Amino acid sequence: MKPTHIEHIGIAVKNLEEAIRFYENVLGLECYSIEEVKDQKVKTAFFMIGKTKIELLESTDPEGPIGKFIEKKGEGIHHIAFAQEDVTRALSEAEKNGVQLIDKNPRKGAEGLNIGFLHPKSTFGVLMEFCGKK
Ligand code: ZN
Repeated sequence: MKPTHIEHIGIAVKNLEEAIRFYENVLGLECYSIEEVKDQKVKTAFFMIGKTKIELLESTDPEGPIGKFIEKKGEGIHHIAFAQEDVTRALSEAEKNGVQLIDKNPRKGAEGLNIGFLHPKSTFGVLMEFCGKK
């Protein structure tokens, strides 16, 4: 299955408020949504650029995935999300192609979308997310 576009780029930040100010004041973008995703222990802020979003991620728990990522690698790009018509199918097709999955089945992410992650070991070091309505 071919992704339709880059749905969003996930960026890990230590301080959401400060990062939002940068995106608003320096880049002139508008934060249209702030949402806590309890499941992933993050607070997210979204900006739209064309069809693509920037998703800022601040950890709400040092033991959560973003907390651990920042401790290990510092702030920066965390993942790239590809828009898929059918996340369930896209994940199972990737698995059939020998890709190691973090999520065998989609779960609910921010904005009520279905999401599933591919393991960076299988994707040349990039944490990839599939993201879509189905
Ligand atoms: Zn994401």
